[in-house]
Parts: sequence; structure tokens; C-alpha cells
Amino acid sequence: SRAKLFDQKTDVKTTFKDVAGLEGAKEEVQEIVDFLKNPEKYTALGGKIPKGALLVGPPGTGKTLLAKAVAGEAKVPFFSLSGSDFVEMFVGVGASRVRDLFKQAKEKSPSIIFIDEIDAIGRARGKNAMSGSNDERENTLNQLLTEMDGFGSKDNVIVLAATNRADILDKALMRAGRFDRQIHVELPNLAERKEIFEVHLRPLKIDKDLNVDFLSKQTPGFSGADIANMCNEAALIAARNGKKSIEKQDFLDAVDRIVGGLEKRSKIFS
Ligand code: ATP
Repeated sequence: SRAKLFDQKTDVKTTFKDVAGLEGAKEEVQEIVDFLKNPEKYTALGGKIPKGALLVGPPGTGKTLLAKAVAGEAKVPFFSLSGSDFVEMFVGVGASRVRDLFKQAKEKSPSIIFIDEIDAIGRARGKNAMSGSNDERENTLNQLLTEMDGFGSKDNVIVLAATNRADILDKALMRAGRFDRQIHVELPNLAERKEIFEVHLRPLKIDKDLNVDFLSKQTPGFSGADIANMCNEAALIAARNGKKSIEKQDFLDAVDRIVGGLEKRSKIFS
């Protein structure tokens, strides 16, 4: 089956309220929201609005969520694709997909382009010069660089990209006028985990004695995605057992299920 070219969402409902913790990162992307909403204010003195920013951090920490929230806050369309979709693509397809993506985003501007797992296309070039299979990735990367250079402040498109491996990216991507800003998104600390639990417990029927501090203390090393997953599993476990609300034990059982074979983590709960 033919893969979709890219995703496009016009009525993004995600806002900063959905993103718990990440105060520093939210502050930084707030500026991008302002650029999108009010470009003239920023270009009045001849300054150029940045074209791209890199969201850097471990898996599941909310990079995609944050990018979506930028679109939701600015009320602009969200165009997205994942670098991993470009793996094993036929010659020419990756580059034309990138070209198409930028064309659409410009037509619908102001808008956000989000490239998840940019490392899959943006790894430093020439590392595998001997293997032909890499050519298509390079073509795609070159097209991305060309597109980034080809649009201007007036196009009012901002490109956000996510990676957990900024160190392996081709330096050309980070040059001025491309992804020249880095926004760090880290694993949540105790207080941030509590905020994330609060977001994900909101729609659930929880036992009135459930202590969110307890849950936060029991989950060091968990990402936001782990916490979201844990809350959902707990709700399913409690429902399966015919309960009317989700209790502490359901959350502990959910943790067991999620961490499964991960010895390091399961020790915390033994
Ligand atoms: P990856 O690098 O694996 O693509 P990511 O950093 O883009 O991960 P998201 O896809 O944004 O992570 O997170 C997955 C889900 O985890 C979100 O949809 C959300 O439900 C939950 N989540 C992650 N971080 C947060 C957060 N800071 N606040 C609230 N929910 C979060």
C-alpha cells in the first residue's frame, strides 16, 4: 500500500494545558507561538523570524505533544511526518515528499511543520558512503536543506523537529537559518511527574484516597509517555476487576505490566 505523504491537522485542540512540566521548553516555544500569531510585530525593526527549532530529549518526554501545542496555541495548521517513514523509500520519493510538504505548509501559512525522528534523515552524511541504500536518505536530507533555505520570514512557516540524538545530526542542519535553536526536553523530576499524573488522571475515575505524591515518588525515571500509559493500564485493570474506581493497587499492577522485563525499574516496586 502506498504510504501517506504526510499528516495534516487543521483544527489542533492540544494546548499548553495538556503539557505538564517542561516549563523552560514551554517558555521557549511560547515565543514561536508569538511569531506565528504576530509576525509583523517581530519583523518591524528588520529582524528575521527563525525558521526552525530542534526539540531534543529522550523518548516519550513530550516533544510531539509540545510541537502540537504550539500549533494549537497559535491556531495554525500542523503538518507532520516522521523521519523513520523515509527509511527504505524508493528513489526520489523522499525528496518529493519533502518538497510537497513545504509547498502545502506555505500555501496554508501561517503553519507549523513537525518532523519527528529527524535523525533518521538527518544523520551526518557520508558515514556509509559505500552503501547505495543511503543515497535516498541523503537526497531527502538535501531536499530538506534546500527547502529550509528556500523559504523566508514572510512565508511564516516554522519547522520544528524532534530527536533524541542531536549529537549524530549533520551539522548542516544546525546552521543559521535552519534549525539554529535547540530546545531541551528532559525526563520529568518528582514535581513534574506529579503534574503529568494530574493531567492524565483528570479524565479517570480514581479512588478518593489515591495519593498522587505516592505515585510520583514510585516512578523515578518514568517519562510522560510511561505515566500516560500507566494511568491507562490502571484504568483497564480496575475495570476488568469490576471496580467502581481505580485504586493504588491497580496503579502498582499497571507498573508491573509496563516495565515487564525491565529489571532495573521493577526493583523499585518490589
Ligand atoms: P518520541 O521521542 O518517542 O517520539 P515524544 O517526546 O515525542 O516521544 P510524545 O509523543 O509527545 O513524546 O509523548 C507521548 C505521550 O505521552 C503524549 O501524547 C502524552 O500523552 C504523554 N506525555 C509525554 N510527555 C508529557 C507531558 N510533559 N505532559 C503530559 N503528557 C505527556
